[in-house]
Amino acid sequence: MTYIQDFEKIITEQLARVERMKEGEAFADFEHMDKIVIGVIDGDGIGPVIVREAQRVLEVLLKEEIVSGKIELRQIQGLTIENRIAQNATVPAEVLAEIKACSVLLKGPTTTPGKGDNLPNIESANVTLRRELDLFANVRPVFIPEKNIDWVFYRENTEGEYALGSRGIEISPDIAIDFKVTTTGGTQRIAKAAFEYARANGGKNVSIVTKANIMKKTDGKFLDLCYQVAKDYPEIKVDDWYVDIMAANLVNEQIRSNFNVFILPNLYGDIITDEAAQIQGGVGTAGSANVGGKYAMFEAIHGSAPRMVADGIADYANPSSILKAAEMMLRHIGQAQKADKLSDALQAAQAEKSMTGDSSGETAAAFADCVLARL
Ligand code: NAD
Repeated sequence: MTYIQDFEKIITEQLARVERMKEGEAFADFEHMDKIVIGVIDGDGIGPVIVREAQRVLEVLLKEEIVSGKIELRQIQGLTIENRIAQNATVPAEVLAEIKACSVLLKGPTTTPGKGDNLPNIESANVTLRRELDLFANVRPVFIPEKNIDWVFYRENTEGEYALGSRGIEISPDIAIDFKVTTTGGTQRIAKAAFEYARANGGKNVSIVTKANIMKKTDGKFLDLCYQVAKDYPEIKVDDWYVDIMAANLVNEQIRSNFNVFILPNLYGDIITDEAAQIQGGVGTAGSANVGGKYAMFEAIHGSAPRMVADGIADYANPSSILKAAEMMLRHIGQAQKADKLSDALQAAQAEKSMTGDSSGETAAAFADCVLARL
């Protein structure tokens, strides 16, 4: 197949995706579900260490619902780098079927082979899951009350540079081209989610972050559409920034407290939220929600930390990230009181335990014990 045929195939697939989006979302109704199944996925590297602790905490918090059969914590095996390589699949079909039988997911980080890893070029499991489950909103809160910081990032999760991340074309040995995709439906739904959150939380400011001065077609469209959606929320103050200056703004103590809600295309959202998490105390402190209509997946914002495993310090990984994700999950399934309880216990444990990420600090298990003691 020539690269022109490759390109045609990509365009046809993307146009079909646009048509599918027009059919709209089927939203999960947790209040009326007979049983909520929480799929628990260990992941790779430090994943099993932190997920084990989150499971322990959830088993205590949801004891009554688990006993009554209203909620099930269901372990899902097989989303490991070893199995994915063995099956040469980003998400093996039987694992995907099990995932789709759950109502929500709590997922540990999964390894994606990179250049130089000497592993098959398998696509990121996360990118596949976000696409397969249409988890279009990646919501990442960063909260530092003592610095007057209360940020929530709405990162578009299915498009941008990630939609076709593994489908770039090596035209010749001298030139490679990747693709970036922005659609009307894809942008409107993330913008709407961010503005709805801003409205529901007391009219917080919304900042749109792009590089529309350079990526004129894709980011230009994203910016225009966000402003169009903003017209339905006249009470909300909106501004827009280029991603480079926003990276600087977040470390500018004079102005950073003015920001509340951010809307970002996929790649900028990925990068800027790691910066924000670092300001909060490191990626090990930050959780995220990947939300679609029917499905939602909750996880730490960080990766599988292979160097911690290689250095023999995986047990010292900070489980705050996945516990924060568990808190967001509880809120999503309508267990707000339990989420508040977990949030308070988590904050108390963070004040008490020093999580340095190595043997000079506490282990994940000791941290979770502290959370459990404060529930
Ligand atoms: P990483 O997030 O795994 O690690 C970055 C740094 O943060 C490292 O120094 C690590 O030790 C530290 N760190 C991460 N989590 C921590 C925790 N809970 N407690 C203490 N310290 C922690 O980033 P990376 O090294 O770029 O990626 C490793 C692998 O993870 C790659 O294969 C990547 O593709 C994958 N990844 C997966 C996800 C996901 O599944 N959501 C997200 C990002 C990266």
